[in-house]
Amino acid sequence: MFEVDPVVAREAQRRRTFAIISHPDAGKTTLTEKLLLYGGCVEIAGAVRGRKSQRAATSDWMELEKQRGISVSSTVLSFDFEGYRINLLDTPGHHDFSEDTYRTLMAADCAVMVIDLAKGVEAQTEKLFRVCAMRHIPVLTFVNKVDRTGQEPLAMLANIEEKLGIHAVPFNWPLGTGPDFRGIVDRLTGDAHLFDRNSGEQRIAFDTKPFAELTAEDIDPIVREQAAEEWELVLSAGDDLDPALIMQGMMTPVFFGSAYTNFGIEHFLHGFLKLCPPPQPRKSDHGLIPVDRPEFSGFVFKLQANLDPRHRDLVAFLRVCSGKFEREMEVVHPRTGKKIKLPRAHRLFAQGRETMDEGYPGDIIGLVNPGEFRLGDTICGGRQVNFEPLPQFPPENFAILRCEDTLRRKQFARGLEQLINEGAIQCFTRPGGGQAEPILAAVGVLQFDVVKFRLQSEYNTATSLSWLPYKMVRWIDGPADNLKDLKLPYSTRRVVDHYGKEAVLFESKWDVEYTQRENPKVTFSAVSSSG
Ligand code: GDP
Repeated sequence: MFEVDPVVAREAQRRRTFAIISHPDAGKTTLTEKLLLYGGCVEIAGAVRGRKSQRAATSDWMELEKQRGISVSSTVLSFDFEGYRINLLDTPGHHDFSEDTYRTLMAADCAVMVIDLAKGVEAQTEKLFRVCAMRHIPVLTFVNKVDRTGQEPLAMLANIEEKLGIHAVPFNWPLGTGPDFRGIVDRLTGDAHLFDRNSGEQRIAFDTKPFAELTAEDIDPIVREQAAEEWELVLSAGDDLDPALIMQGMMTPVFFGSAYTNFGIEHFLHGFLKLCPPPQPRKSDHGLIPVDRPEFSGFVFKLQANLDPRHRDLVAFLRVCSGKFEREMEVVHPRTGKKIKLPRAHRLFAQGRETMDEGYPGDIIGLVNPGEFRLGDTICGGRQVNFEPLPQFPPENFAILRCEDTLRRKQFARGLEQLINEGAIQCFTRPGGGQAEPILAAVGVLQFDVVKFRLQSEYNTATSLSWLPYKMVRWIDGPADNLKDLKLPYSTRRVVDHYGKEAVLFESKWDVEYTQRENPKVTFSAVSSSG
């Protein structure tokens, strides 16, 4: 049994660490900004927008973001609200999102899914939702842009349930939508919260009164009548918000609101604090590690080199899972078995850095020049533990990368090795090695651009890509004889990944199924664990 450290237990209890998932344009940036505004971080709130409009991008490789007008990196925003420390993991908001986004979800305890009332559940939201479902992390839903004409709120609930297969239970209900939108009614108290429209730049005061007592002065009686009917329907469906089902990812509480006009933000924040769980025990090779274990532990979920070209550094982002993190503490790195003194730690936001002296479960720490850390590595004090490896997400795009200048082969190899270790891209080679050019693979096409761009700007190496027709990879395992005599269609290619694990590239799902039938003793797995 572990002892319990009461300070760690108390600090962990007040941490809420989450990420926002959404399709581009649903309003993630606006919601982030408004949450920070309510958290009192007015300056940072401005910077979120600034970052999106690229004014804040100063580093070299952020050039790519500038050129493309997109965000390719994730950072963390922390703020205090009513005694809680809220850590918001920022994820890239582009269509062509990456494994980076997926992995960021591995470090979150909860996800907030932002949906545009007019558009419903869109493709990227769905993909990200599946990752949350796979990890059983609770998902809270914010239906945004209720001030704009969109779907009927009841249709919105049906849309979430049908597309995502999760039970959608409203936490509040909108009083009118589009131009009629006047506020929301709270499920728990039955009170109506009425808002004044304003510029959205400041907090807004609202009137609260029981829904049943609303007069024609408060709200157009027709709008009131319709909202009352819908609300009656929702309540009579008999589904209560059930924290246990939310925790298991079987139910999502739905909040209606409008980030742009501040309608429902404060209400959402209070509901979020009720429903987003504090940091949970994490699985390891020694069973579940409780957060209040006195010894520190954490894992690396993101590596990023050269965030700041003036320093040419590498930052490892660490999620604290148990105990207390202290500046320059001595820890164990179980993968190498070494004892190390942790380098300077930072809280990072965009280009800003602030030294961090301590951290508790749920916190995200940026370690500058951490040495030999790899994605998924555990770092701990006291008894050695290893957290579950990070899943490697199945890539959907494949290409051969060539170094254009033969004199720069060394730099090319060094740069590529760095980018692979960071998890920026996956790499496959022919079995048996040799000089063959590497096959790069990634979830999104944008990741290839990032690799080309960074090889050029950080390693001064020009590269070119030739696209390959493959669409999926399967890691193979089975008896040695069966692997040796694997029966493969011509359209496939046998490869090994960066960690020496054997795999096959396929052009279609049909090919995978055919090959599986031909080789019944071999397993073809869509996911491999890294490291
Ligand atoms: P992101 O791509 O998900 O980060 O989306 P943004 O936060 O940048 O929002 C996309 C667009 O929708 C912007 O023009 C916002 O001003 C607008 N928007 C965001 N929230 C709302 C809202 O609640 N109501 C309305 N009418 N527009 C909104």
